[in-house]
This record gives sequence, structure tokens and C-alpha cells, in this order.
Amino acid sequence: MLFEAMEKEGFEQVVFCQDEVSGLKAIIAIHDTTLGPALGGCRMWPYESEEEALIDVLRLAKGMTYKNAAAGLNLGGGKTVIIGDPKQDKSEAMFRALGRYVESLNGRYIIAEDVGTTVQDMDAIHEETDYVTGISESFGASGNPSPMTARGVYVSMKRSAKEVYGNDSLSGKTVAIQGCGNVAYALSELLYQEGAKLIVTDIHQEALERSVRQFSAEAVKPEDIYRVKADIFAPCALGGILNDQTIPQLKVKIVCGSANNQLLETKKHGQLLQEKGILYAPDYIVNSGGVINVADELKCYHPERAMKKIDEIYEQIGKVFEIARDEKIIPALAADHLAEKRIQEMLQVKSTFLAKEHSLLTRRV
Ligand code: NAD
Repeated sequence: MLFEAMEKEGFEQVVFCQDEVSGLKAIIAIHDTTLGPALGGCRMWPYESEEEALIDVLRLAKGMTYKNAAAGLNLGGGKTVIIGDPKQDKSEAMFRALGRYVESLNGRYIIAEDVGTTVQDMDAIHEETDYVTGISESFGASGNPSPMTARGVYVSMKRSAKEVYGNDSLSGKTVAIQGCGNVAYALSELLYQEGAKLIVTDIHQEALERSVRQFSAEAVKPEDIYRVKADIFAPCALGGILNDQTIPQLKVKIVCGSANNQLLETKKHGQLLQEKGILYAPDYIVNSGGVINVADELKCYHPERAMKKIDEIYEQIGKVFEIARDEKIIPALAADHLAEKRIQEMLQVKSTFLAKEHSLLTRRV
């Protein structure tokens, strides 16, 4: 059953990790390493069953292959899940045990932070392996990724505005932002500086008030954010928020935000947005600033270099819109095509190289 699923979705390797002393129960999934070593975060979650954890890690690892490829990174996709409650089951020993498993993969997989894990957990992993990103800044690492993620959302929004309005200025545009958390706050700052008008919402009053105060934003109730009159909607809180109930309410021209898996059902809801004349900037490219930033740690972190690469998301989003137009498909599928094309091209380069090597060797014999 597992091999069948792996073959169907193109998975290379799944590693089951257990450590009796620390109680570690984790799964590392490496989806595809055509473009380079697999990079993806470590999620700790109280999964109800091992099957649920396995399904999640496979889904997330494959998602990282697409995200890294579409972001123009020479990295493959992988992910780790730890079965457990991050509030009570964590220990240094657990992450060190996981670090030894990561080390045993010899660089085929590079681990990072995700939901339920922290910089301190990555530091514990770092005690056992160098194949880890998102460690403390004292090790020369990149620190909080949110401002860099926000930068990627901002340039994606500008490229989307160019597509819809003919120029990429956000000055005078109204942007409705769902969530006032880490990414949304840094994004709001960039938009405010450019002269955009902001409408914001959050379930946490304190976060909401901070955005209202700092950026002269208008606050609305969480359920009202979908129906406000604006140019752009930026989902920066939750996944699955573009669905049968919310899309009919939207009065915007563009959806572009940091949240993962915004479309509840990719094809159906991507199509629904298109039919309403709303341009959707695919989430996993829009929010790839975070992974581009941590990936830079692999070359000895340099913030300017990371920022330059993040600014290239502008071109990547442009390519997605071009593919969508040429192939008459929705942008969410065009993003997948962009990622698959990069992987296919690399496979071709590799097979041509191998064929040449083979012919040289056989000539020598
Ligand atoms: P965060 O937790 O700092 O902010 C999320 C905010 O959304 C919180 O303030 C929360 O109160 C608010 N919120 C939750 N439910 C809400 C609702 N129903 N209505 C309105 N507000 C609600 O998270 P973040 O780091 O800013 O990330 C935001 C999104 O971007 C997440 O989906 C995350 O997965 C994604 N993302 C973040 C990064 C990053 O670098 N932080 C990178 C890639 C993707």
C-alpha cells in the first residue's frame, strides 16, 4: 500500500524514526531531489493516528517540491512530522534523536522550523547535524522569516497589480488584509509606505489595534473582511478560506496573500475566482520568501543576497500569469506547470549528461 502510494506520487524515500528514551516518533518524507537536496520544515502535531501523520507528511513534502521548484531554488522537497503535542511532549533529547536521523541521510534532506517547532528545537537538532536551517542568529542564521515572507507577498502583489491595472504601483489602492500577525504586520508596513489604504481584521484585538494605530488602517469584523470593497484581498491568517461561501462575497480584483492552501479545492475554487474576474496569485509562490530566506543559510547567510532572490518572485509570478494565459488554465495550475517544467528540464540535463558519460566510458573500454 505504502509503496503503491509512493510510486503514484513519485516519492523517493520515507523514513520512520523512533527513539524509545526520548519518545520520538517521527516520519521524514523525501519527495523529489531532482533539483537538489530536499528542504522542508518539521511539524509537531498531536496526530490522532499514525496514518494521519503519514498522509500529512506525504502531502506536505510534495508541496515543498513544488514550492522550492517554483521559487527557482535548486532544492527538492521534503518534510518531517513528529507525532506529539508540542506543548507537553517536547524535549531536547527528542530533537537530538531526530537530528541523528537527519544526519544519517547524509544531506539528502535539510530540516527547518514549521508549526509546533521553534528555533530552540532547531538548535538542538544542530547539535547532531549541519543539515538544518532556521537555527539561532548567533550561528549566523537568518532569524525570523516573516519580514522576508512579507517582502515576497509585496512584490507578488505589485506584479499582480501590473497584470490587472497595467502598472505595479500600489499607491492609492485599497488592500483588505485577513490577519494582523507577523507576516501581515510587515506587509502592512510596506503597503502603508507605498501609500496604499488598508482594511484589516484579526480575532486578536491587540494585534488588530496595533495595525489600526500604526498604519491608519480601518478595522472590520473577521466575517466582514470578504465583503469589503477593495482592490486586493490578502489572506494572511488561515488556509481554506477561498471556498463556496466566501468567493461569492468578494468585491476585489486580486487575491494575493501569505496563507498556505488558500483555495479549499484548487481546481474548483481557482476556477470560481477566474469566473468572477478575480486574479489569483498562487499562494505557494507568493509566500516562498520564507523558504528562500532560510535556503540562503546553506551558502552562509547574506541578507542582501536573500532579499535579491526574494525580489525575483516578481518575475516568477509574472511567468505564472504568462503560462496561465498561454495554456488557458487557472494560475494555481500554471504554478504547478512552472514547477514541473523546471524539474523536467533538470531531469533532461541529467540524463543527457549520463548518456555522454556512458558513451565516453564505453569508448575507453
Ligand atoms: P501569525 O500567527 O503571526 O498570524 C496569523 C494571525 O491571524 C494571528 O494574529 C491570528 O490571530 C489571526 N487569525 C487567526 N484566525 C483568524 C480569523 N479567522 N480571522 C482573522 N484573523 C485570524 O502567522 P504568520 O507567521 O503571520 O503567518 C500567516 C500565514 O502565512 C499562515 O497561514 C502561515 O502558514 C503563512 N506563512 C507564513 C510564513 C512566515 O514566514 N511566517 C511563511 C510562509 C507562509
